[in-house]
Amino acid sequence: MTHHAPDPRLTALAASLSSTVPFVAPEEMEAARGAPFEARLGANELSDGPSPKAIAAMQAQAREVWKCGLPDNAPLTRALATHHGIAPEAITVGEGIDGLLGNLVRLFVAEGEAVVTSDGSYPTFNYHVAGVGGVLLRVPYKGVHEDPKALITKAAEVGAKLVYLSNPNNPMGSCHSAETVQRMIEAVPQGCLMVLDEAYIEFAPEGAVPAFDTSDPRVIRMRTFSKAYGMAGARIGYAIGHPSITSAFDKIRNHFGVNRLALAGAQAALADRAYLSEIVTKITERREIIAQIARENGLTPLPSATNFVSIDCGHDGTFARALVAKLADLGVFVRMPGVAPLDRCIRVSVGTKAELEIFADRLPRALAAL
Ligand SMILES: *Cc1c(COP(=O)(O)O)cnc(C)c1O
Repeated sequence: MTHHAPDPRLTALAASLSSTVPFVAPEEMEAARGAPFEARLGANELSDGPSPKAIAAMQAQAREVWKCGLPDNAPLTRALATHHGIAPEAITVGEGIDGLLGNLVRLFVAEGEAVVTSDGSYPTFNYHVAGVGGVLLRVPYKGVHEDPKALITKAAEVGAKLVYLSNPNNPMGSCHSAETVQRMIEAVPQGCLMVLDEAYIEFAPEGAVPAFDTSDPRVIRMRTFSKAYGMAGARIGYAIGHPSITSAFDKIRNHFGVNRLALAGAQAALADRAYLSEIVTKITERREIIAQIARENGLTPLPSATNFVSIDCGHDGTFARALVAKLADLGVFVRMPGVAPLDRCIRVSVGTKAELEIFADRLPRALAAL
């Protein structure tokens, strides 16, 4: 892409930001290599796809796409409220967690204000913080976990407006217990809001989910239809929190931003509990297949509470990056954590069984080639 001098009419903040797109779509990588990937295991998508009922609901809405979406997203909000046993006022629906994070940051972080996250955790959050001129401070992981104590200590030290934790964690797949997360919520300093990103919560063991308490203004929790529900391309998710926080989203959100196909699909997906539990069972079984493949190749799979397995390759980031590139050459799309020391790992999404067979075939060949 050509680089333009910044337009002089941009805000000083906008002019200071770079215009690069930080991700390369696997479709673009396929175009570059001149062949489709045989296994698409890089983006923590659900290769099984969404519930057939969700597909049917979206197909039915395709004919109705001439109609606007629903500015209050009310039917889905009500269904979510019933599902979680909380008041609809404690929920706001948005264009995936990514969209919700952008609005959250706009609502809570002014230029120059501090935000705390972990070094190597979810990059889209960081991107939104940069977009409002927030000052992002990063604390290291503790082993394979984000470190709640260090996050809280740093947040208190710098007077952070937001402190971010993903549980289960991307990119390591690790998970804290509900008690640990609850203890972190209790420790959030005055003036700070904890962002609890629960993108993978459906895959987590039972003891990882704190009870909802929407009377507590110290935390906002984010959920998505992109991972366990298999609807990443539909862009739909929701946040749960104190109504004084969730209602603030109405001040700034794109009121027609959630499209009607996504709304109808999410509602049908939410209602199909049997499909979700089938998926969770399958993914849990297949996680073990990935772990087995890793071990057979002398690598160390990390325990996972998500729909991906991070594999410690036992070397540095240069080695893991070369392995990711070699696997792509051999038709397998995977990604890896971006920063040391997490970048000793590659991150393999739990695809279909057929995709995992391809991974099992290509991994030893890729390793041998390095
Ligand atoms: C995938 C992912 C998201 C993105 O969620 P969307 O609803 O698709 O925007 C957010 N947070 C984490 C930790 C993720 O891994």
